Amino acid sequence: MLDYIVVGLGLSGTAFCETLRQHNKSFVVFDDNSQTSSMVAGGLSNPVILKRFTLAWNSPVLIPIANSFYNAVGEVLQQKLISDLSVYRRFASIEEQNMWFEAADKQGLKEYLSPVLVRNKNVSLKAPFDFGNVMHAKRLDTVLYLNSYVEFLQRTNSLVSESFSHKDLEDMKTHVVYKGFEAKRIIFAEGFGLKQNPFFNYLPMQGSKGEYLIIRAANLKEENAIKSSLFVIPMGDNLYKVGANYDRDTASMLPTKKAKIELLRKLDDVLDCSYEVVGHEAGIRPTVKDRKPLVGQHPIHENLFVLNGYGSHGVMIAPWAALQLFEYIEQGIALSSEINCSRYISDYKAN
Ligand SMILES: Cc1cc2nc3c(=O)[nH]c(=O)nc-3n(C[C@H](O)[C@H](O)[C@H](O)COP(=O)(O)OP(=O)(O)OC[C@H]3O[C@@H](n4cnc5c(N)ncnc54)[C@H](O)[C@@H]3O)c2cc1C
Repeated sequence: MLDYIVVGLGLSGTAFCETLRQHNKSFVVFDDNSQTSSMVAGGLSNPVILKRFTLAWNSPVLIPIANSFYNAVGEVLQQKLISDLSVYRRFASIEEQNMWFEAADKQGLKEYLSPVLVRNKNVSLKAPFDFGNVMHAKRLDTVLYLNSYVEFLQRTNSLVSESFSHKDLEDMKTHVVYKGFEAKRIIFAEGFGLKQNPFFNYLPMQGSKGEYLIIRAANLKEENAIKSSLFVIPMGDNLYKVGANYDRDTASMLPTKKAKIELLRKLDDVLDCSYEVVGHEAGIRPTVKDRKPLVGQHPIHENLFVLNGYGSHGVMIAPWAALQLFEYIEQGIALSSEINCSRYISDYKAN
């Protein structure tokens, strides 16, 4: 008898697996690579919403937990997974500069928004109104993290690389049984794949498709992430991630020409150097109606749990939310009502 079955190995499922490992719980995890949100993510851990200059939800609580979590996993995997990265908000006008100063004076934001503007010295960037510097931002190398964790799980035979078939799950009341595996509980961390989960698809997941271009720009020589109407994120070797857009049309997971045109148009407002597009990727963010995580227990099947709904800021949220769910299950500590999926109980219709 295992302690847990986990379905999904994106940022959410991986954080839960690692939380289990740290607490000496046994588990097996299923993943079929059907969703790509965590793999294509920019990996930014950014405390501030740079459109409105407000704090990202719960970020002062989430950030220290995320930083120590990724540093600890990095030690286990013997990889440097998370690094400091200044985020420079490019201003489009004097009015925006003034809004920045106003925000930088506010309690809570002071710690993150530098009151000293940064003059643009990079001739390959167009930034006539300077930059605002976001402090304490970081970048998680999501591809390195997730791929290294997959290898780690493979070494202990804890990963089954196949699709989880919900109809084959048997709820025995005291435990669950799935294709020869018996476990006390099962955690669904399927990202936008939740839509195909008959137990939890009553939850109001909407989804938002996002696309990034990867460009090579030898003359750009920028070490900070630049935020204008899109992000330009340095990845090393003259490569940069450029994006992402937001699209409600989640019918296909494939990159589109429409998004490429939109991103290139926005990029040309910022860059003043030659570049070539060397990659284009897409993923569907598991966004929820009220923009909060979906965490908790199934209304009827008490051994079934969901860990999902990080439409943005998954890097920051995942380690904290994994611990919240773990402590709820193992220690009976109540989940915050903001994230508890029981807030949507009225949407549940028992069969
Ligand atoms: C373009 C883009 C840019 C982003 N940038 C950032 C950023 O800079 N910073 C940030 O914090 N967040 C960012 N995000 C958001 C972030 O990616 C999400 O918050 C996060 O990836 C959600 O993780 P998840 O594990 O819940 O879902 P997913 O990453 O979708 O993972 C779900 C996993 O479940 C598996 N799965 C699903 N169904 C099944 C099944 N039936 N059987 C087996 N396996 C299954 C999938 O294969 C997948 O591996 C971005 C998202 C996008 C799309």
